[in-house]
Amino acid sequence: MPVDATLPYDDQNVFAKILRGEIPATRLYEDEYALAFPDINPQSPTHILVIPKGRYVSWDDFSAKASDAEITGFVRAVGKVARDAGLVAPGYRLLANTGTDSHQEVPHLHVHIFAGRALGPLLAR
Ligand code: 5GP
Repeated sequence: MPVDATLPYDDQNVFAKILRGEIPATRLYEDEYALAFPDINPQSPTHILVIPKGRYVSWDDFSAKASDAEITGFVRAVGKVARDAGLVAPGYRLLANTGTDSHQEVPHLHVHIFAGRALGPLLAR
């Protein structure tokens, strides 16, 4: 079910559990601000999720309330994860679903990194 991105943060969401180590995930990258791990249901040969460590429901919540250090740290982490995975030359796509119409499923901000094949048009028709 898509989530309403205006709801308060839910500490029982699956990515909060991954951050706390209650659900396993392969930690591809981690620093003070961000954690990256493979998507459990990949939509491209490389499909990585990058999440901030703070309690933010969505891009909207994060961009409005996160500190400058959190925003800088998170954005730099997304770029580093893609760079370290060798994705810059072949190219990659970032996606951050926010709310019902985007079909956001997990109510903790996550940026998808898709790569590993020609990704085609931006939206499914
Ligand atoms: P959204 O639709 O919210 O943008 O994307 C949520 C993503 O989280 C989906 O691509 C889904 O496969 C992934 N996902 C959901 N539960 C888990 C999990 O427990 N572990 C991992 N690694 N990914 C998950």
